[in-house]
Amino acid sequence: MENVLLIRYGEVHLKGLNRPYFERKLIERIKLALSGLNATVKREQGRIYAFGIGENDNEKAIDMLTRVFGIHSLSPSYGVEKGWDTICRTALEVVKQEAAGGKRTFKVFARRSDKQFFMNSQSICRELGGYILDNMPELSVDIHNPEICLSVEIRDMAYIYTKEIPCAGGMPTGTAGRGALLLSGGIDSPVAGYMLAKRGLELSAVHFYSYPYTSERARDKVVELARILATHTGTIKLHLVPFTEIQLAIYDNCPPKETTVLMRRLMMRIAEIIARQDGALALITGESLGQVASQTLESLCATNDAVSLPVFRPLIGFDKEDITNVARKIGTFETSIQPYEDCCTVFVPQHPVTKPRLADIRKSEALVDFSEMIERALKDTEVAEIG
Ligand code: ATP
Ligand code: MG
Repeated sequence: MENVLLIRYGEVHLKGLNRPYFERKLIERIKLALSGLNATVKREQGRIYAFGIGENDNEKAIDMLTRVFGIHSLSPSYGVEKGWDTICRTALEVVKQEAAGGKRTFKVFARRSDKQFFMNSQSICRELGGYILDNMPELSVDIHNPEICLSVEIRDMAYIYTKEIPCAGGMPTGTAGRGALLLSGGIDSPVAGYMLAKRGLELSAVHFYSYPYTSERARDKVVELARILATHTGTIKLHLVPFTEIQLAIYDNCPPKETTVLMRRLMMRIAEIIARQDGALALITGESLGQVASQTLESLCATNDAVSLPVFRPLIGFDKEDITNVARKIGTFETSIQPYEDCCTVFVPQHPVTKPRLADIRKSEALVDFSEMIERALKDTEVAEIG
């Protein structure tokens, strides 16, 4: 009898001819998540199995795997040889463990992928159910609402389990290429990064800080957010860009009500250069339609106008509450709400324009030649591999 983690994939199974590529990537990610735990990982007939993990490491392995994008769910199971006696004995053992916690009703689910096996799935359910009732007369079968769901899968071995743990879903990291996330210290942008990493993007992250108007601790907070995010997304290449000179130039030379939109355009321009250097084909922001003045449709259009890479805004249709729920789930919320100022908030005008006209914005931006400032900001950018 062997402890096996039985791993089901999500959307990857919908793939056609390129499915082996996605499966290979998923297995790479699983091996990475389990590295150091002495696991062997193999794939067979639409399932992935991880075995050889010590009893003490099992919980850690499960925690790591629930974060791997591309996994739909997993079941800690016992893998046994396909003899009927062995299957019955193991199943009984498993049900006894569950019943020890006070559960009294059960149902058997069977799946026979090995068509050579001498019983079909219906017979397995019936015979195994009977065997359990004979040995544990205190239990009863409930086919609609069982407390114990006993599953048996007949494959290369027989796999027996009672739990199905939901995992992150999505597509394996790296299968969609790379995107550059504009990462602030707020609640939204880490969630935006999470959502697109879940669709298979590897992440670079770009953060703008305005020392001394923003503090060292505000920067540390962003590094910490990137670290938490990286526990889901894998390594993040984080760029910390000094933005003070550009912000002051906007502040000193451009119409106050347009400073926010102009600042966002400059952020996008710099992020686009970094994205191209990193091989990223899209920019990602945490913007949500109408959330603040810089996120009206007009403002978003004015921001897009500054760059030619596509800008992904996965939160565009999300309410703050929806975003917050995801932030809690992925563990970034508590860090995000630490009260350190962001460069956006330090220089915020009292009456920002909510419906900027593109022609006006372009004209205002042309009041300053930013090219050398952009070069300096890029030259002084620090880069760190996080996670
Ligand atoms: P968040 O919670 O992500 O900070 P927000 O509601 O505070 O969002 P804004 O401050 O307007 O919104 O920022 C909108 C988006 O712009 C952010 O989600 C992020 O993608 C990007 N952004 C804002 N400030 C910065 C920054 N200092 N560095 C990098 N990107 C930033
Ligand atoms: Mg913000």
